[in-house]
Amino acid sequence: MSLTGTTKLAGVMGWPVAHSRSPALHGFWLAEHRIDGAYLPLPVKPENLRRSLEALAMMGFAGCNLTIPHKEDALNIVDEIDETARRAGAINTVVVDKNNRLVGSNSDMFGFLEALRAAVPGWSGRTGPAVVLGAGGAARGVVAALIDDGATEIRLVNRTPARAQNLARELGGTIYGVPWEERAAALAGAALLVNATSLGMEGQPALELPLDKLAPDAVVNDIVYVPLETPLVAAARARGNRAVDGLDMLLHQARPGFAAWFGVEPKVTPALR
Ligand code: NAP
Repeated sequence: MSLTGTTKLAGVMGWPVAHSRSPALHGFWLAEHRIDGAYLPLPVKPENLRRSLEALAMMGFAGCNLTIPHKEDALNIVDEIDETARRAGAINTVVVDKNNRLVGSNSDMFGFLEALRAAVPGWSGRTGPAVVLGAGGAARGVVAALIDDGATEIRLVNRTPARAQNLARELGGTIYGVPWEERAAALAGAALLVNATSLGMEGQPALELPLDKLAPDAVVNDIVYVPLETPLVAAARARGNRAVDGLDMLLHQARPGFAAWFGVEPKVTPALR
């Protein structure tokens, strides 16, 4: 589609930014809906984040996504932080409002829950105990989403126990810290297993986790999306468990930003995947 003088603009700021799949994803939706818009990769060094964000409104941008390493730093720059960004402790979506103020939000929690609900109709946090591996930025969003969705019990398993304890203290809810060595036993009676560590990602060590104790009707959600089918997802499917992969979360988390910038509610479809 050719650009006009009234093209709506958005993009993703990151450093480096070349790895980001967001331009392809938003570009697909822009073409699908024949929108006069553009979504650009914006290579922004950390020391330039403030000036780049402040320039958005001046340059007529509707907003942007933020990726590594900007998600936390932006909390101190935008004019307003909504509840999702406060809970997640990070901003991944910035919208320029009608008064040219920057509003920061985080759509990872939305993306995680929407992916789960799309794969498992009727899913809710109340379905049963959840085991979450990891206590980094991604795990924080996953745990907050599960609590907000009514989770009755979250078993939080992390290599560094102090990080899990901090997360539990900050987020509240019924969170039990489980030592990393006891992760296989923690699966007993769980309705959901989420891998929110970087283990199993291309270039990272494998996730060592026997699934013997996992109930056959439990759902496995690996938020790692490179490779698409991680060894955990493959192992879960092989033993008959329903599995959700990380690409679904990535696609669903992009929906709120696209809707805010371009005015159309996009859909996650097989063609998009
Ligand atoms: P992060 O903040 O660096 O956290 C990494 C987590 O992995 C920590 O809990 C860390 O434990 C654990 N870990 C790393 N190496 C380990 C090892 N050798 N043994 C045991 N635990 C280990 O990273 P993040 O931002 O949370 O991202 C985590 C993963 O989620 C990445 O693969 C990322 O691509 C993915 N992600 C996916 C989506 C999506 O939309 N699908 C969104 C966000 C993130 P310690 O605390 O002990 O270091």
